[in-house]
Amino acid sequence: MAEAGEILWIRTHCGRMDHGGCGLLVGVKDGKIVKIKGDPQGFLNKGYVCLKGIHSADKLYSPHRLKEPLKRTGARGEGKWQKISWDEALSLISENLTRIRDSYGARAVAFCQGMPKGLEHFALIRLANIFGSPNVVASQDVCHAPREISGIHTCGFYPVADFHHPSRLVVLWGSNITATNEEGEICSLLLKQLGTGTKLIVVDPRKTSLTKKADLWLQLRPGTDHGLALAILNVIIKEELYDKEFVRRWTHGFSDLANHLDPFSPEALGKAIWLEPKQIRKAARMIAQMKPTSIQWGNPIEHTEYAFDAARALICIMAITGNLDTPGGNVHALEPNITALGKFVRADVIPEKRKEMIHAYHRTIPRLMTVPPAFFREAVLRERPYPVTAAYVQCANPLLSYAESEMTYNAFMKLDFLAVSDIVMTPTASLADVVLPAATQYEFNDIGHYGLGHGIILARPKVVDPPQECWPDIKILNELGKRISDPSLWFDDYEEMLNLVLKPSGLTYEEFVKRGYLKGETRFQKFLQSGFRTPTKKVELRLSQAEKYGLAPLPVFDGPPENTDKDYPLVLTSAKSPYYLHSSYRWVDSLRKKEPDPYVLIHPQTASEYGIKTGEDVRVETRWGSITQKAKLTETVHPKVVYVSHGWWTAEENRHDWKTYNDNMLTSVKEVGKEFGTPNLKGVACRIGPP
Ligand code: SF4
Repeated sequence: MAEAGEILWIRTHCGRMDHGGCGLLVGVKDGKIVKIKGDPQGFLNKGYVCLKGIHSADKLYSPHRLKEPLKRTGARGEGKWQKISWDEALSLISENLTRIRDSYGARAVAFCQGMPKGLEHFALIRLANIFGSPNVVASQDVCHAPREISGIHTCGFYPVADFHHPSRLVVLWGSNITATNEEGEICSLLLKQLGTGTKLIVVDPRKTSLTKKADLWLQLRPGTDHGLALAILNVIIKEELYDKEFVRRWTHGFSDLANHLDPFSPEALGKAIWLEPKQIRKAARMIAQMKPTSIQWGNPIEHTEYAFDAARALICIMAITGNLDTPGGNVHALEPNITALGKFVRADVIPEKRKEMIHAYHRTIPRLMTVPPAFFREAVLRERPYPVTAAYVQCANPLLSYAESEMTYNAFMKLDFLAVSDIVMTPTASLADVVLPAATQYEFNDIGHYGLGHGIILARPKVVDPPQECWPDIKILNELGKRISDPSLWFDDYEEMLNLVLKPSGLTYEEFVKRGYLKGETRFQKFLQSGFRTPTKKVELRLSQAEKYGLAPLPVFDGPPENTDKDYPLVLTSAKSPYYLHSSYRWVDSLRKKEPDPYVLIHPQTASEYGIKTGEDVRVETRWGSITQKAKLTETVHPKVVYVSHGWWTAEENRHDWKTYNDNMLTSVKEVGKEFGTPNLKGVACRIGPP
């Protein structure tokens, strides 16, 4: 115990500023967090901490935090609220959700979640399942699902870049992990490898600190990753650089793939993807010849309607080069001995879920268990395939994060009932009937990385108390669950959910916290024992069940997501900020100082053609809408590419501006990928001009 005025250091893990993962030492003085530093014992970070991590406690003390439950009193979105008790808030939500279930069936209630941040993600799925609704809506169409589910269909697992063992070559494909640290792939592990001679290829339309370290930088046209992956496959196969023994023993459909690749040579595709054939050939030879190679694939490859083609083609590269499930390659991370997700979320109580989910009617890929936002909003607005009239939204700001924001607004305005749990009044929360004040990072006991497929879970013990009326989401869900579903499937104390996850390990949460993390066994080439977990027991270069599920058996490329023309001559894309997380945290002063405005990156040559100067407001326009951001001229981008900032909104008193700067005013869901419902967020044709 620290004396009054002394700093007490508490060991925990970072979360909710990105996917989390860094072990932290958090200094607490007189009940308040005063300092944060990286924990040298952190398994994933070994003492590293980024600027967001250092400032991660500032949000706790922001004047913008919600501190009590609110009930709407004016018209929807008018900003008139009345403070209410938790009991009243939970009663209001329960009455409305059960009323709607009684009238339209449980499937008329959608449960919406943003990026997985902690255990509440799975507690929400549990609530939806026990309530009886098959409709959990999440942005997985543009984040994680295309990679994970394509992996499961192709090789039976989600292939994760192994930064814990030496690679001879690392390929960062659409992954600037110095800025984002995707899913616990913390950049300090990569930088350590690069310091010991590992070669680096970076596939990124923008010059970054990592492209400067790279042995080869491929500045491809945004949204054409599937073309590049197919051209690389073409070279590896035509030049017979593949791992012949692995291909012979462990792949299905190799000759189909080889024949299929004829039209996809570097010479045929180079112009469309803006790369020289010799660059593509060099990349292909490096990947095939430098074993082990790991491909760290970022989620931009999931940001077009061709996400399935891109993910599948990349897995084919990992497979035929013999880098699947080998140390320093792309591995099948084994989970520690913890409760399986299906059991935690009580999948057993909703056996018809797969048939009843909104997207099942759109014939998306099997195993996609969350509803793509495009199809959710269609169900609300057009009642297709059936009416959805209520939503419970947690850790999400769909008005900013779903493509085609006007559609989201119209859908939320049409809802009969909307409840939102969040830490501040976001534009989405401002449309709700009931708003719940959530506790946040450091204010409750949590488990990180559960369900992410990286074979590790991390202890995130509470460090300080939340403001009195702020509840952890798992507590809210536990209390709501008792009111709207079978109470016997919920818990006296919400923290029993933590122990439920840990039960097979034999550890209590307190014992887990002492260990810090639990990791699955490190074992490679599991396929040697029982084959791959696919119908053919091999890596399915050609999907054996494609026809049954209405999927393309082999990945294809037939051009970029949108063609440019004289009206829209430029190509739009975006990149994540190192200071924010999607639409979160512009209201944290210490972070806002680092990046005070939304800016659009334009090449100086292009800016001079349009008469645009740094710092000026610029209108960015696509066929779908227009926004205004501030010009930043930089030679780091291609002259034909425009980079907009993602996730910006502002609020003054009760007025939320979610249109002016919001990049999703520029996107559309008119065309979405069949497999995941993915819209085009990258590679969209655009033009720029004065506001
Ligand atoms: S990299 Fe991510 S997990 Fe690590 S300190 Fe930064 S925000 Fe936290």
